[in-house]
Amino acid sequence: MIIILLGPPGAGKGTQAKILCQRLKIVHISTGDILREAIKSNTALGQEAAKYVERGELVPDSLVTKMAQERLTCDDAKEGFILDGFPRNLSQAESLDEFFNSNGLLDYSVIYLETSETTIIKRLTGRRICKNCQAVYHLINVPSRKEGICDTCGSELYQRPDDSESTIKNRLQVYERMTAPVVAYYSHKGKLLHISADNEAEKVIEAILKFLGKDS
Ligand code: ADP
Ligand code: AMP
Repeated sequence: MIIILLGPPGAGKGTQAKILCQRLKIVHISTGDILREAIKSNTALGQEAAKYVERGELVPDSLVTKMAQERLTCDDAKEGFILDGFPRNLSQAESLDEFFNSNGLLDYSVIYLETSETTIIKRLTGRRICKNCQAVYHLINVPSRKEGICDTCGSELYQRPDDSESTIKNRLQVYERMTAPVVAYYSHKGKLLHISADNEAEKVIEAILKFLGKDS
């Protein structure tokens, strides 16, 4: 099964993808996570990508598309995958289509997590991430049992530097300019499911599983 999760930053793509990949036994592929890992490890890709990620700009397609396609061809993606954060502009959507066509991957679902701006800002400013296992928390909505410590692996939680208020504003503008047209692209193809992601996480996952026919 192939699922593309679309939605603004903070819509809950990562949160939903982590639950879905366990339920559906497919892998979660987040281009944001791959880039953050590359930055942390100081690879050539990470060095190049860092200046864009810090500013909340899109990393150039020439870097991201190749990176995403390499990840999609890994063995663990053979049974299916959930794409989170890709495609993020029309050119990425078109190259993903070409990749799907040339690999015979014709059946996929696109789920759009629709979210209001007020919700986005509250979610992004309160988001905390585990430094080690990337588990996602929220200071109010999804607090860890012990403040600042990951429930799963006991490592420290941190606030993503691009979750500062000024960078959030830029990321939302970039989303409107570059990524919102991708929503229209899949809608024209008759591929899009809209889900109200302002709801609590359990309701969102229920709606997704129902749409996928996996709610039993
Ligand atoms: P995205 O991957 O779309 O940027 P995340 O999954 O990282 O978004 O979620 C952003 C923040 O909002 C996180 O702190 C997460 O814990 C919280 N969150 C996600 N979905 C919900 C929800 N349905 N209700 C409340 N908080 C949520
Ligand atoms: P995310 O974790 O999805 O919020 O992404 C964090 C940052 O990584 C974004 O603000 C971009 O700088 C970069 N990024 C992630 N995915 C992409 C993509 N598909 N294309 C370009 N840049 C990306």
